[in-house]
Amino acid sequence: MKRREIKARWVFPVTGEPLENGTVVFNEKGTVLEVHAETPSASVDGDAEYHDGILVPGFVNTHCHLELSYMKGVVPKGTGLPGFVRRVMEEKFTVPETEQREAIAAADRLMWESGIQAVGDISNTDVSFSVKRESPVKYVTFIEIFDLFTHQTPAEAIAQGTALRREAHEMGLEAYVTLHATYSVSDRLFRDYAAIPGTESVSIHFMESPDDDLLFAGDGKFAELFHRWHLEADFLADGSSLGRILNHIPDDRRLLLVHNSNAGKKEVEALSQRYGSGISWALCPQSNLYIEGKLPHLDILTQYPLNLTLGTDSLSSNTALSMVAEMKTLADGFGIPVPELVRWATLNGAKALGLERELGSFEPGKRPGAVLVEGVGEDFKLTERTVSRRLL
Ligand SMILES: [Zn+2]
Repeated sequence: MKRREIKARWVFPVTGEPLENGTVVFNEKGTVLEVHAETPSASVDGDAEYHDGILVPGFVNTHCHLELSYMKGVVPKGTGLPGFVRRVMEEKFTVPETEQREAIAAADRLMWESGIQAVGDISNTDVSFSVKRESPVKYVTFIEIFDLFTHQTPAEAIAQGTALRREAHEMGLEAYVTLHATYSVSDRLFRDYAAIPGTESVSIHFMESPDDDLLFAGDGKFAELFHRWHLEADFLADGSSLGRILNHIPDDRRLLLVHNSNAGKKEVEALSQRYGSGISWALCPQSNLYIEGKLPHLDILTQYPLNLTLGTDSLSSNTALSMVAEMKTLADGFGIPVPELVRWATLNGAKALGLERELGSFEPGKRPGAVLVEGVGEDFKLTERTVSRRLL
């Protein structure tokens, strides 16, 4: 590969305003050398390429479960979260590993080709590790543990997570141990979690459904699930999903809360105060529509200076792992400007995963990849025809 000048109808550097007919110059390693606005055509040498679309840095997908790729279409839409969790737990890994690996490899390839540069990816097993090791996509792996829904003891869950993390490290993957959710982890494990090695970066499913918090009143479908599986919710003294985080996750962790569908003013203010700039919020709107049929309270969340990021979640609750589809859903639902959504899908995601020095924006010295977003309407409107493809 040699030095490459990519010019597009629009360039979104992300750290600055959109540039009309902008150019980004990369060296042979893909490192950004220069970003500039419209140049007189005479100064563009023969090597410059022009694209009719928006040039953006590679996307950062902050929440995925690559290993569930084989479950595409298995769980019907609209089950609600407790029904969804039950189906996934009951049908998880019931197909041969070769089939799982094929689905994982295909999903990884499509993510790369559509412009995804890095992924915050949840793993419960090592089935996806070899694909992640070989992939050009940068994976930050969250080894997820939860004892109640897996009928493990806290010690067994910790031992499993620690062993998987060691295996991930041996394969050269960046990996942390994380907790699944506020409703699926015992009091003991939630208390012991912070002392486990490899918990500097935390990614927890948070307030994805109303049932997450109804449980604390002994009500709702998670309470039913506890009854069905003969489990005891021994953590009700924490009072709420919010209480579990505040009580047990120290403020020196890089914290990524995932879904936040029912988070409002109270949660945002309490969490922002406690974790400051260390907290990020992953929104997975397509998955929310698939499972619960509704979107997070973006009208509230956007009133605060939060590090909002976007995730596709897995193919068990989405029809594609497409960052454009996630952006389109929020643009349509809330009228959020596309340049802002691109920031959530790139730089904010990079910050959430600790990758902002390398990825997320067109700034000299970074190696963020280059992605063309095509089929965009007036005022950057994302339409049914909008697609993204990797240029670099
Ligand atoms: Zn998830």
